[in-house]
Amino acid sequence: MFPQNCINCQQSLNAEENFLCTLCKIDLPLTDDLQNPNNDLFRKFSFEPKIKSASSYLYFINGGIAQKLLYSLKYSGKKEIGTMMGNWLASAFDKNLNVDFVVPVPLHKSKLRTRTYNQSEVIAKSFVSDLSSMELRTDLVKRTVATRTQTKKSKVQRWRNMQNVYSEVQHDLSGKSILIVDDVITTGATVGMLCERLIESGCSDLHILSVARGK
Ligand SMILES: [Zn+2]
Repeated sequence: MFPQNCINCQQSLNAEENFLCTLCKIDLPLTDDLQNPNNDLFRKFSFEPKIKSASSYLYFINGGIAQKLLYSLKYSGKKEIGTMMGNWLASAFDKNLNVDFVVPVPLHKSKLRTRTYNQSEVIAKSFVSDLSSMELRTDLVKRTVATRTQTKKSKVQRWRNMQNVYSEVQHDLSGKSILIVDDVITTGATVGMLCERLIESGCSDLHILSVARGK
């Protein structure tokens, strides 16, 4: 079941190693986001007062380890990589943070059809299984637009242009604290739109956690 070679350097793996050899695991490009609340990712979202934290575990570099792992998870059917990433996030996450619901960033149904699973949901499911006080919710919001808009507009304009990327939430989320889980965050525009939808439904706090982000 498990691949015989390291996804990053192709070195053959021993029985204790999963997907990455020990050296590449030590070399993971870790951020310090979870120790540093005022990190670069959080600053992308800090204009929305309900967003209380935003953190990524790894830096996403073209051709780097995070990209190779996420590519294998998304396009090569290596679902176990998502489970491993969920374990990483759970062990690094602040257990004292009050979170009611964990919401993976939804995938449009056309993409779900070709990939068979939502990578963010695989990560979130594994994350929640390690932190039993939180509930995984995949029923709150759906992605209604398959492609993302490629514009050079300002962040606020982009958020407005993406009004309908996610469906309206049909649940009352009053007083709920929600953690959004994503695989990789680049501009933050799509996650921002998802936040808007959850805020419309009355949630009290939002936190954002992703496996990787751009530098
Ligand atoms: Zn390696």
